[in-house]
Amino acid sequence: MRRVSIEEIKPLLLKVERPGRYVGGEYGIAKQKEEAILHVALSYPDLYEIGMSNLAIQILYNRLNKINGVSCERVFAPAWDFEEVLRSKAIPLFSLETGCVLSDFDIIGFSIGYELTLTNLLNILDLADIPLLAKNRTEKDPIVIAGGPAVTNPAPFGKFLDAIMIGEAEGVLDKIMLELLSLKRKGAGREDLISHIIKNESIWSLIKEGQTTRAIWHRFGIEENDESYRIVPNIKTVQDHGVVEIMRGCPNGCRFCHAGMFYRPCREKDLNLIIKEVDFLIGKYGYREITLSSLSSGDFTEIEQLTRVLNSRYSAYGVSFALPSLRIDSFTLSLLKELSVIRKSGLTFAVETPNERWQKGLNKEVSLDKTLKILKKAREMGWRQAKFYFMIGLPVVEPDEEVSQIVDFIKEVQNSIKIKLHINLGTFIPKPHTPFQWAQQLSLIRSEEKLKKIKSIVRNRYTKVNYHSPMLSMLEGAVSRGDHRVGELFLSAFYKGARLDSWEEHFNRKVWDRVIKEASWNVEHESCRERKFNEILPWDGIDLGISKTFLQKEYLRAMEAKKSPLCEDPCNYFCGVCRNGLSVRRSDTKIEDRGLPLKLSRTDNLLKVIFSFEKKDRAIYISHLNLMTVIERALLRAGFFVRHTEGFNPKPKIEFANALPLGIGSEEEIASVEVYNLNSTTEFIEKVNRVLPEGVRVKQAKIRSIDESKKRKESLMSNYWGSEFEILPLEGSSVLMIKEKLIGKAESNSLTHEEIDIRLPPQKNGLILRLKDMGKKSLKILPLLSEAMGTLQPFDRFNIKRIHTFAKDKSGKPESYFSI
Ligand code: SF4
Ligand code: SF4
Repeated sequence: MRRVSIEEIKPLLLKVERPGRYVGGEYGIAKQKEEAILHVALSYPDLYEIGMSNLAIQILYNRLNKINGVSCERVFAPAWDFEEVLRSKAIPLFSLETGCVLSDFDIIGFSIGYELTLTNLLNILDLADIPLLAKNRTEKDPIVIAGGPAVTNPAPFGKFLDAIMIGEAEGVLDKIMLELLSLKRKGAGREDLISHIIKNESIWSLIKEGQTTRAIWHRFGIEENDESYRIVPNIKTVQDHGVVEIMRGCPNGCRFCHAGMFYRPCREKDLNLIIKEVDFLIGKYGYREITLSSLSSGDFTEIEQLTRVLNSRYSAYGVSFALPSLRIDSFTLSLLKELSVIRKSGLTFAVETPNERWQKGLNKEVSLDKTLKILKKAREMGWRQAKFYFMIGLPVVEPDEEVSQIVDFIKEVQNSIKIKLHINLGTFIPKPHTPFQWAQQLSLIRSEEKLKKIKSIVRNRYTKVNYHSPMLSMLEGAVSRGDHRVGELFLSAFYKGARLDSWEEHFNRKVWDRVIKEASWNVEHESCRERKFNEILPWDGIDLGISKTFLQKEYLRAMEAKKSPLCEDPCNYFCGVCRNGLSVRRSDTKIEDRGLPLKLSRTDNLLKVIFSFEKKDRAIYISHLNLMTVIERALLRAGFFVRHTEGFNPKPKIEFANALPLGIGSEEEIASVEVYNLNSTTEFIEKVNRVLPEGVRVKQAKIRSIDESKKRKESLMSNYWGSEFEILPLEGSSVLMIKEKLIGKAESNSLTHEEIDIRLPPQKNGLILRLKDMGKKSLKILPLLSEAMGTLQPFDRFNIKRIHTFAKDKSGKPESYFSI
């Protein structure tokens, strides 16, 4: 397979924002399998920080790489700046793990969680030089497959994909991959493989006829997830926690909720498996913040027991737990207490609509009284802010009253509790396979009017209000319920420059206005209009298991403001899903005594370790702030219990002597950490080096005792003298010229020989530059080189590496941190 060398494109990478998005090298990635027969590139078509926050990517990456003969790598959508670099230099898009060119893979698999990532998907294919239309692909092109909750109406995506998987990948993935492996071993070509894939009953394709049935993974919650490959990102992602999926599906059956229908029936994971996964995420991967994820975690039957047990096991290690989505009804005081043990994660209330009758129509009740009660208690316990979500345009509301009722609800909260509020408003989008799939969506103009009005009334110093752009909601609605014409619309928008549409800051309104105007059909009307019960819908060929009669019954009950029963076992309100041995699943209730989770021990023997480490190769793209987290997680993985600061948001006691700018390598970074259970520096170096990401390696360490009685503690930073750098000119730059320019700079700044020292060591091709730290007047390496050479991009001209980080000795002279 062809490769793009990260080293060769280094100057280009260092011109873009967050280059760590494109270089891989994280802890936990799969090693390259030389013997692989099937090469799969797995993608979430959005930026790295969104893609790596998606649990499906981690699940699929783990599963695929565990199959002998399959090698799975990742690729995400590039940001604008990197796309420009790729296009202007004709560099094809490549994988994160090995830099392999995307078009050389056998399969590209997209996990699509959000409809508006369609233009990114097209961009990824285009940047890889793969024909966008499936019908134009040939034997040399990869097979392009997608799955995920956003493609349950496959019609808009159909033209671009060779196959679409409907349902839960775990249910079919292994089987399909094993079959493909066997076919490939026998010499099958691309067309043979596609013909085989689309035979599966859970695979939809434009060239296939008949129903496609959702795959459901029956073993969710009982099969152990061994997490052989869990990637721990080197840069901060949107969901930067360790995530354990504690429940799949939701018992509540809210009528607007696609996820609630798509993931039926509700299946809880066994408590002991959850705890095992938490052990893994902390001990093997180094996470200190764990999210117990599901669609509605408060509905997990044993949630109180689970959070209590987890806190009692891990709170001493500074590990905290968050429940991302809690219904008001599932909030209890003891749950609040458990959530506040270490760090207080955000409080979120998805009210949707304020009026009780309308709430009944949604099949989701959120009482104002209960909300106020919980908020009051949370305020007493130290929470200072809460998020609220409301939707406008739901089919169950009185259109003329919804603005005033949402405003009244928010005002009641504002007047009752002094807490900062973040109000998020959105427009209801009818989703396929839900009871509201036939409903009307609010027009752009009405939506804009209503959202602006609510915002203007409730916004104040303590209440922030954001609303989701009505245009984005309209486009999301277009993909959700549209047909092949929506695919064409998106293709046309892509050609005109639309990308990263889900990001309001990147959304190009002009492009979209133009393509909507030029379309041969009325995009807004067609996307928003009400559908009739007897109308043929583009997703009728997809069977998620829920019968259409059930959805229609639910729609009518919504209009009459009638609530429906929960999804539970035994089922007394059959929707069609629980057949063939499938049913709602509750977790076990008894937690086995597993002893202490990690090989961590806290003794009174608290020590400080000062250590040096190198930072090179892909690690030069890790920023200083991110490096803190990288080191912190590595220490936890290595089994060292790090001391934390006291207070509201405890932080590990790790200190760096001096921050290193992104893009500069280093042979000697200096850091210190306070740890409890350390025996020797050799143990420290060996254990930590086993679990650091690529390019970071501890070289030396020394142990210091900590004198708690000293008021002013010595810090690495206050002892910092300065650094020595090696500057290697790239082709076309002369080392003598750099030297002259730097000397000129030193003279014009009247710097002494001690403050700046420029040397050309004999028999070396580079220049050595020693810079003394002078507090606020300090010369910084990158601005100094830029100014001296008159270039904004020093990395175009030089390779820069820090070779020494010096401490001050007693007389203020530079000395090694290990000698003072
Ligand atoms: S509580 Fe309602 S809205 Fe939330 S996930 Fe469950 S069904 Fe969906
Ligand atoms: S058949 Fe009953 S229990 Fe099963 S998913 Fe449908 S409503 Fe829930």
